[in-house]
Amino acid sequence: MTQDRGLLLVLSGPSGVGKGTVCAALRPRMEELVYSVSATTRTPREGEVDGVNYFFKRRAEFESMIENDELLEWAEYVGNFYGTPRKFVEDTLASGRDVILEIEVQGALQVKEKFPEGIFLFLAPPDLKELRSRITGRGTETEESIRNRMMVAKAEIELMDHYNYVVVNDEVDKACERIQAIVTAEHLKKERQ
Ligand code: 5GP
Repeated sequence: MTQDRGLLLVLSGPSGVGKGTVCAALRPRMEELVYSVSATTRTPREGEVDGVNYFFKRRAEFESMIENDELLEWAEYVGNFYGTPRKFVEDTLASGRDVILEIEVQGALQVKEKFPEGIFLFLAPPDLKELRSRITGRGTETEESIRNRMMVAKAEIELMDHYNYVVVNDEVDKACERIQAIVTAEHLKKERQ
């Protein structure tokens, strides 16, 4: 019998929504999940360990990873490159374990192209639904500012349609519970297929 593949979970969403915090809180709750470690060209922050938080790379090293097709996806984010090493993800899925990627939205869309069967979770701030009325309704913004904010909000809302689930991050614990429920449901769905 061939080994059932694991589920690929992609946790993404707008910057500042709390992806890192939710992912860290998921670790003790979902110990069976395997966390992909990304490569990045940004400098390590205090306390970050190479190979644990990220694989810290020079720009030339990162570029050669791109050229050698070693990355499942990659994106430039505020002047630094970030990417997911492909082999680790593929090997882990093939071994039957679930893998989670915590990545920004451009990268998530690239993964969707390659792994349409993945489970794409869009972590949303609690007030996204009300954003439009708040932006236009509060009367303090200039026309230009409203236009810019609406453009960003619209782009974010449109991107939500590419995801399987929208998980509201009102409280970290609640967001974790929602993600756990989704993963349980997806496993049951897979077993029935
Ligand atoms: P930070 O520099 O704060 O650790 O991460 C900045 C952003 O890069 C976050 O939104 C994080 O989700 C995203 N990120 C981390 N690793 C990857 C990756 O491998 N690919 C992509 N596309 N984004 C990533």
